[in-house]
Amino acid sequence: MKNLTLSSTVKLNNGIELPYLGLGVFQTRDGVEVVNSVKWAINAGYKLIDTAKIYGNEKGVGIGIKESGIDRKEIFLTTKVWNSDQGYDNTLKAFDESLRLLNVDYLDLYLIHWPVKGKYKDTWKALEYLYEKGKVRAIGVSNFLSHHLEDLLGTAEIVPMVNQIEYHPYLTQPSLIEYCKSKNIQVQSWSPLMQGRIFEIEPLVNLAQKYNVTPAQLVIRWNLQNGIVTIPKSIHEDRIKSNCNVFNFNISEHDMGIINNLDRNERIGPDPDHFDF
Ligand code: NDP
Repeated sequence: MKNLTLSSTVKLNNGIELPYLGLGVFQTRDGVEVVNSVKWAINAGYKLIDTAKIYGNEKGVGIGIKESGIDRKEIFLTTKVWNSDQGYDNTLKAFDESLRLLNVDYLDLYLIHWPVKGKYKDTWKALEYLYEKGKVRAIGVSNFLSHHLEDLLGTAEIVPMVNQIEYHPYLTQPSLIEYCKSKNIQVQSWSPLMQGRIFEIEPLVNLAQKYNVTPAQLVIRWNLQNGIVTIPKSIHEDRIKSNCNVFNFNISEHDMGIINNLDRNERIGPDPDHFDF
């Protein structure tokens, strides 16, 4: 763990390398805002960009990647199939639309955004098809609890490579993480900074001072040391740069314990068993 860098990757269950740290673009506006965020991130050395059809900014993400001048192959690009696009045929259509907006001819990771009851198994079949056709290098899910995964694995031919879940100091979901580990499914954290709320949590502010880092750097590093891939979002160049500057310090085991113990099983986003969208 001590030797991680911004280019470090974790090997997924199909052998594909997923960067440990990326840029999230939820609530980043399409157009200049997302184009700049993506360009600043790539210039700072980020290799992973996480978007979704529902974010409405895939076009700008594609432009940002192009304008950064980096080779497309150097970037690990994730997007997600939205709930209203689920089902076999609709997912295939949504995938093509995402490729068109992103202006790319393949994806690195395609995720089922939420476990829509009665639909996610057909959606998964479509993802398996896209994977087998070589249109996407890895496929996965998001917001799946253990029982959703268990149900999916009952019929799946391919075990998801990733489960992207809400994960931060107030929500660590240890049993779900253990379950994912047992199936070799990599956990990726969304809202690692609690959408900004971490800055009000005193023990985090105090620990950050101790390490002479920002609370964001502390929490991002805590994710990585727990083996969780993470995708903090920012639209500010200075924050994008500083959020990836987390490879020159190490949180002690004792202090990792302090952060782990902040868990309150408290969500800032919807509960995957009770969402209505
Ligand atoms: P984050 O936890 O990443 O927090 C983002 C917020 O923190 C923004 O308000 C940002 O402000 C602020 N921030 C970022 N860095 C700093 C800093 N260094 N100092 C002070 N403030 C900072 O929230 P997200 O919900 O965006 O989660 C991250 C990503 O996860 C998303 O962008 C998306 O890609 C993914 N996601 C996936 C979901 C899913 O269902 N699969 C659900 C939600 C998110 P500013 O931008 O103004 O800098």
